[in-house]
Amino acid sequence: MKVLKFGGTSVGNADRLRKVCKLLNGDEPIVVVLSAMAGVTNSLVEITELVKSGKMLQAIEKTKELEDKHIKTAEELFDSKMYRKRGEEFISNLFLRILSKLIDGYNQSDSRNIVALGEQLSAGLFHIQLTEQGKRTAYIPALEYMRIDKDGEPDFFYIEQNLKRLLHTNPFANIYVTEGFICLDTNGLVNNLGRGGSDFTAAIIGNVLNANEVQIWTDIDGVHNNDPRYVTNTCPLRQLSYDEAAELAYFGAKILHPQTVHPCKAKDIPVVLKNTLNPADEGTVISSVKNRKRIKAVAAKDGITAINIKSSRMLLAYGFLHKVFEVFNTYKTPVDMITTSEVSISLTIDNTINLENIVNAISQFAHVEVERNQTIVCLVGDFPASHKGYTAMVFDCLREIPIRMISYGGSVNNISFLIDSHYKVQALRLLQQLFPAVSVSNSTQQSIEANIF
Ligand code: ADP
Ligand code: ASP
Ligand code: MG
Repeated sequence: MKVLKFGGTSVGNADRLRKVCKLLNGDEPIVVVLSAMAGVTNSLVEITELVKSGKMLQAIEKTKELEDKHIKTAEELFDSKMYRKRGEEFISNLFLRILSKLIDGYNQSDSRNIVALGEQLSAGLFHIQLTEQGKRTAYIPALEYMRIDKDGEPDFFYIEQNLKRLLHTNPFANIYVTEGFICLDTNGLVNNLGRGGSDFTAAIIGNVLNANEVQIWTDIDGVHNNDPRYVTNTCPLRQLSYDEAAELAYFGAKILHPQTVHPCKAKDIPVVLKNTLNPADEGTVISSVKNRKRIKAVAAKDGITAINIKSSRMLLAYGFLHKVFEVFNTYKTPVDMITTSEVSISLTIDNTINLENIVNAISQFAHVEVERNQTIVCLVGDFPASHKGYTAMVFDCLREIPIRMISYGGSVNNISFLIDSHYKVQALRLLQQLFPAVSVSNSTQQSIEANIF
């Protein structure tokens, strides 16, 4: 069994959906996880915001626009009149449900129902398309098996039991189509796995089914060595270890949802990132194979808040750090980076929902300062302490950038530092100098083999 996830651009219009259909021609059973068509989740979020601010007419107009976009896709997607009608009816029924929620009184849980619509539309349409093409396919609704627990973590036991039951009720199918991103919570209400969460859905499914591979199909030929949205001449990495990929995803490489790696690492399932627009390219394989001696990639994570905690009364005395971290624990706020000195600690968080409570609690026993709009830049590779020169080289190329915090030695895979977000793009571009120039004209795209030490 393999799990194949197709992202928003891969299912972005009728032509793309047809390309995806053509990719599914083996006999091995597969689970196909689909995202909403590109831009659709953003539009759905906007609709919920319009409703919340009382702009009901605008919300309904935007909903109609989205419906038209899907109807147009259905018109182009199906060969026969019968299937076109079936697709259009499917779309209209889903939109009717949403419109009735908007009109007949709206509550908070309706917003998650509305945001879930994008994946339900793309998965439903794709399943009808596969049926028209004569494929042996079954639609497995994510809301019948994907569930998170009270801490927002996947409930693996529940998911395994229910997903396996659903697959067994469709023994003749070999292409199981399901929605990424969406799930139920412990109260049975519709929820989701966070933005970009379809990758995580695929990894969870891979884990519970003991898949032999999870493929993430997107619009680029694998994980690049730097962020292609800001840096030119980036190029794909052919191989990454689970730990390296997890660091990159956590520290901002948008190509992978931050939690994707762990469920696959737990079962040693390779994750392969492939390009739907260029399927012949080998992409990036993430596995337990470790490839040492290299600086591999750079990523950056925005929206970071730095908290500086000062105490004249022996900061590092026994028990002080415990007291500080107890506060973060109480408010369920993960800490990303931490540095200490004799009289102060600096740490960073990206979830600021409880920032005020955290600051109030720590202010009871120390002085607290907060700096917003920070960015963590993370270098991933293999940085054993025995190798000289890594840090000198990295920070020499960043000499023009004011650096607020540095974290080195926590893991051999990661050197990270904190800067004001204003310097992010400049820092990413400067760090690209660490990689030897590579020809991007070569269509097979050479991998970065930056064996520079
Ligand atoms: P999908 O809709 O398929 O899930 P995403 O937009 O979430 O796709 O992720 C793919 C995008 O991630 C790429 O188009 C690229 O702009 C961006 N990206 C950011 N960092 C990287 C990186 N290091 N390697 C590859 N792509 C990256
Ligand atoms: N459609 C969702 C989003 O845009 C999930 C995903 O694409 O992975 O965040
Ligand atoms: Mg994505």
